Amino acid sequence: MRPEVLPWQQENWQILSNYMQQQRPPQSLLISGLQGLGKLILARQFAQTLVCPNSMHTGFYCAKCYSCKLFVAQTHPDVITIRPESEAKYIQIQQIRTLIIRLSLKPQFESHRVVLIYPADVMNLAAANSLLKCLEEPNERTCFILIATQPSLLPATIISRCQKITVHKPAAIMAINWLKHQVSHPNPQLLLNLAQGAPLLAQQYAQTDILMDRTKHFNLWLSVTKFSAAVLEIASVWAALQNIPILRWIITWVADIIKCSFDCGSNYLENSDFKLDLQALAIKLNPQKIYKFYDLLLQSQQQMHTQVNKQLLFENILLQWAALNTGK
Ligand SMILES: [Zn+2]
Repeated sequence: MRPEVLPWQQENWQILSNYMQQQRPPQSLLISGLQGLGKLILARQFAQTLVCPNSMHTGFYCAKCYSCKLFVAQTHPDVITIRPESEAKYIQIQQIRTLIIRLSLKPQFESHRVVLIYPADVMNLAAANSLLKCLEEPNERTCFILIATQPSLLPATIISRCQKITVHKPAAIMAINWLKHQVSHPNPQLLLNLAQGAPLLAQQYAQTDILMDRTKHFNLWLSVTKFSAAVLEIASVWAALQNIPILRWIITWVADIIKCSFDCGSNYLENSDFKLDLQALAIKLNPQKIYKFYDLLLQSQQQMHTQVNKQLLFENILLQWAALNTGK
């Protein structure tokens, strides 16, 4: 049986399937790509193919055998998953040490053993060094599958040991068609825009209040154009946000203002539902200053990955935004 491969992963699957048909599964595989493209789904499908004894010639798991059933029940003894433990942010060295002990034993079944590591880009350095030793000394019938959104955070020595599979964003038409089949939502295109074109993230968004949250934050942002006094309060709200990419949203609002100033049609706007407000801002604001503000936002986004004080970062953005609007 051919597994249900996501439409934008067909080429990825072809490569993985070929490994199986040639009976040469990789010893270590790195699957990378943006959040929301289904890297884990792909990795799990390949893991099941590796443990299924009926996959060698077809290149697909059978979904019927004992191994497949254990895999689906998540109780297969030859499938080992390494993730950050509970509250920990990183995969720790102790987890890799335990893994090494487990790998010193033979796989329990006749097929392959799989070690799934995700997100592999949150391994601390000691854990990564220890894992490297594992990768350098291949274990019997064992395949490591590392999954990473930001593979550049992994040591080059680990990356060079892995066969690489990159899951790319689907074409816009494929993404929207897939999403429309999965969710009934009045504005799937807007969800997809918010998810930067990643269909599974857009699907996840459809089950949340993210559009309402976005409108709330957009209104806060607009309020600064009139009453700059609220800057400190808004900055502290934004600095505390956890799962909302507020800075990315602001960048798209400003990019849309720039597009409006060129009179682009609303089809080109990422935030078409805010068109009227964005057009009004495009008419009001000085184009050169808005470009300068856009640069500030891009620089701020780079700093977000550092130890920057987010309160100060947002205060600065909001103060500049207020000044831009009051012509100071
Ligand atoms: Zn099977």
